[in-house]
Amino acid sequence: MSETIEKVKCLIIGSGPAGYTAAIYASRANMEPVLYQGTQPGGQLTTTNDVENFPGYPDGVTGPEMMIELQKQAERFGTDIRHGWITKVDFSGDIHKVWVNDEKEIHCDTVIISTGASAKYLGLESEQKYLQLGGGVSACAVCDGFFYRNQEVVIVGAGDSACEEAHYLSKLCEKVTMLVRRDEFRASKIMANRVINTPNIEILYNTETEEVLGDGQVVTGVRAFNNQTGDKFEIPATGFFVAIGHKPNTDIFKDYLDLDETGYIINVPGTAKTNIDGVFVSGDAADHVYRQAVTAAGTGCMAALDAERYLAAKESDFEVSTSTYQ
Ligand code: NDP
Repeated sequence: MSETIEKVKCLIIGSGPAGYTAAIYASRANMEPVLYQGTQPGGQLTTTNDVENFPGYPDGVTGPEMMIELQKQAERFGTDIRHGWITKVDFSGDIHKVWVNDEKEIHCDTVIISTGASAKYLGLESEQKYLQLGGGVSACAVCDGFFYRNQEVVIVGAGDSACEEAHYLSKLCEKVTMLVRRDEFRASKIMANRVINTPNIEILYNTETEEVLGDGQVVTGVRAFNNQTGDKFEIPATGFFVAIGHKPNTDIFKDYLDLDETGYIINVPGTAKTNIDGVFVSGDAADHVYRQAVTAAGTGCMAALDAERYLAAKESDFEVSTSTYQ
């Protein structure tokens, strides 16, 4: 346990577009924010190659470059950006307590949670290899589908996300092969019917991925197998999309914040407020619908503005209550 407890006005947890945007707004509002980057500085976008749909980059930008620019912009206005992993919180009292790496204790007037969500992957060695290479494995059709225009792709998953992404890809790609591991969809009927009725989506039920095939640089296909018959076969493809769900990074908050059944933080609609005064949420930690860099940035802005208003109201309450006793 640390001997000295640090006190901060505004602590931001997470370094994706939500966290950095919250930091830009909070530092410009003199809230002296401290931002902890977590174990993946830059967040999910650092696993994306080209970002072409973030407004303001007409020629596109790589995910890692964009995150470095956002970091620089937050630093320019004085955000204190630190390495470290928030391991524990205690939101039970007026002062919000946070621990860094199980050691350092910080007491915060406001906390902005921007811890994001992590896409789930199958975990195959070949999948991870081409993911790291930026060579054709993706967990975001809206981000990367454009690069596979008029090509053949494979998508894994059978939930609402997989259906939505397969349908999105079907409008860009020549052919989409969808691998469903059971003999039915998990998705809602309406979403499943949409893909079933799309001519250039082929659905292979009871089918799983054995290996993502490639030439050492880029994906060239998928070796799949039927889990009922054991039959193996190859599907030519230049893109391999994984849509088997996301896990919001919210475990440490579950004792204090209202979460939905999959772990996303529930915000007060139209705001970044949570059920705890002074604790705000932005980005994918509360968003399983849009999950875009630009929407994360937008909610990061909202979180900083809500936090600033919360502090201002608290300070004016304090001034009123102290003047009453003068
Ligand atoms: P889900 O958990 O609903 O679905 C995950 C899918 O991935 C399941 O079909 C599952 O198969 C499959 N899967 C999991 N692991 C593997 C694996 N190792 N190999 C092959 N397949 C695998 O996640 P979603 O992201 O689709 O949805 C999350 C939540 O968000 C849901 O509540 C959903 O309704 C909601 N959502 C709503 C949308 C909308 O309304 N527009 C859009 C997107 C999401 P199996 O079925 O066999 O378990």
